[in-house]
Amino acid sequence: SIYNRIEAVEEDVKAYITLTKEDALKQADKVDEKIANGEEIGPLAGIPIAIKDNMSTEGVKTTCASKILHNYKPPYDATVIKKLSAEDYIMVGKTNMDEFAMGSSNENSGFYPTANPWDLTRVPGGSSGGSAAAVAAGEAIISLGSDTGGSIRQPAAFCGVVGMKPTYGLVSRYGLVAFASSLDQIGPFSKDITDCAIALNYIAGHDEFDSTSANREVPDYTASLNKDITGMKIGVPSEYFGDGIDQEVKDAVWTAIKKLEELGAEYEEVSLPHTEYALSAYYLIAPAEASSNLARYDGVRYGLRSEEVKGLVDMYKKTRQEGFGDEVKRRIMLGTYALSSGYYDAYYKKAQKVRTLVKQDFDRAFEKYDVLISPTTPTTSFKAGAKKDPLEMYLSDICTIPINLAGIPALSMPCGLDSNGLPIGLQIMGNHFGEEKILQIAHAFE
Ligand code: GLN
Repeated sequence: SIYNRIEAVEEDVKAYITLTKEDALKQADKVDEKIANGEEIGPLAGIPIAIKDNMSTEGVKTTCASKILHNYKPPYDATVIKKLSAEDYIMVGKTNMDEFAMGSSNENSGFYPTANPWDLTRVPGGSSGGSAAAVAAGEAIISLGSDTGGSIRQPAAFCGVVGMKPTYGLVSRYGLVAFASSLDQIGPFSKDITDCAIALNYIAGHDEFDSTSANREVPDYTASLNKDITGMKIGVPSEYFGDGIDQEVKDAVWTAIKKLEELGAEYEEVSLPHTEYALSAYYLIAPAEASSNLARYDGVRYGLRSEEVKGLVDMYKKTRQEGFGDEVKRRIMLGTYALSSGYYDAYYKKAQKVRTLVKQDFDRAFEKYDVLISPTTPTTSFKAGAKKDPLEMYLSDICTIPINLAGIPALSMPCGLDSNGLPIGLQIMGNHFGEEKILQIAHAFE
């Protein structure tokens, strides 16, 4: 079983927080029983899938890699878990991540960092680093991650796998522990584009438990994979090829674009002029929403409760002081500051206006182009410990964050190796609900 592989490599990779071997074997037995009884089995029967540890799994620890939730076992399954269960999938375990999905390297995990399977001295990216590393190391066939500002695509790029952030509202967020609710979206990691399309088929769809869930028909995402791409129009946004992007990364992405041209697509350079403001807007909006979402961890309702406290307020304070890591505290402080009266207009409101401008850049581009193509990350995977300054870490997401602000879908797939032998990620962006076109181009390139 997959656990043989996990046993062989997990000590080095540390992709998981919790392994659910017993449950998995029971699930597998159930499938066997169904077969023995001549019952129909689900299309995901026997497929080992890993789940990021910020998705609620009934009776199975869901920690968000935070000490504050170290012992939290949710009483219910997230909608994505229900959907996968209905197709007879097998949950391998819950994967490591940056605490509450805040980070780009998995070094913010409250427990231990995950290593990049390509080079154990390097980071797998984040925040869904465990999910990306699990697929890259063969410790799962598919995994789920969440992407608020790049947390699926950046680790996919660093680990040389496929990762997709769907359109905001395509996949239910019910049971996904909220970081920044207007940006969060669940999506799959896989080794190839076909598996990505299959996974998306089973997690997408309307959910009455998520008020932001889109009520529209979900197509079969595998149906468009083999369609000819002749005449498809690719926009290449010049702002994503600036000074901050490694030359080797740019070269690999341009080689990919030229290959797509050979396959019949047409490309043109395009400008998305507000790109440079996206990161600043994100680091106001995301912390603002996070500061509100994380108010619920007060020592009363979930997980950790500090002992030896003097009264209620002291209990809140000590629990949060002990339970949250530095990055989470930093975000809460940034967010409450940006939302406080007197500063709200100057920061939060202005950031929301910038968000609209970023979205309008994309709206204009998609009037003309089927997809946009860029690097996923400015560099390939960096060494663990290399980015001590949080601002430097934030720059890892300059190519991925604008996509979340606009709510559009985007995918990262491997497009070659750099001179250190590390994978380079190609980002393909689409218009709202343009997943089929993204997958079609991606499959043609693969
Ligand atoms: N790295 C970004 C952050 O720290 C994005 C995180 C994410 O997408 N969850 O906020």
